Amino acid sequence: APPVLAIVGRPNVGKSTLVNRIIRSREAVVEDVPGVTRDRVTYPAEWNGRDFTLVDTGGWEADAKGIHKRVADQAELAVDEADVVVFVLDGLVGATAVDEAVVKMLRRKKKPVLLAANKIDSTAQMTEVYPLWNLGLGEPYPVSALHGTGTGDLLDAAMKHL
Ligand code: GDP
Ligand code: MG
Repeated sequence: APPVLAIVGRPNVGKSTLVNRIIRSREAVVEDVPGVTRDRVTYPAEWNGRDFTLVDTGGWEADAKGIHKRVADQAELAVDEADVVVFVLDGLVGATAVDEAVVKMLRRKKKPVLLAANKIDSTAQMTEVYPLWNLGLGEPYPVSALHGTGTGDLLDAAMKHL
């Protein structure tokens, strides 16, 4: 079976948009309202001649007080099955309490993690990602899943772990 790349992060940061960018299709459902992606959805993907399985995550409701735990639990299931993890957050918003909950779980795992700071749609916004070094996940990759910028560098880095 091909190696597995899992995309995790809180709702609405652009995980499904990134998945669509990588598979060059609109198969992953993108919505302006959080929590649309159900469970974990897998897609066959390819980068620079390498086949891998891409996992999009979601499936929680963004309403009640238990959200931190549910987001982290969902991400954990995907992480356990992954060879490399892309943790996505909103690069303009920065790390929220929900993001921190996912990071806490990721730190416990022995899986390689790449930090994608999404929604960096212009070079003027690049400096927004520097504080994300503080998360301890290494270099933050500024990406715009919407425009496709930065996703190549992110995938190049991810492939080194597959
Ligand atoms: P998910 O819940 O993490 O899967 O997020 P979605 O992929 O469904 O995207 C949530 C919202 O963020 C949608 O309105 C997307 O169009 C928007 N979005 C996703 N990526 C980007 C990006 O790179 N830049 C901007 N400006 N918006 C984005
Ligand atoms: Mg989604």
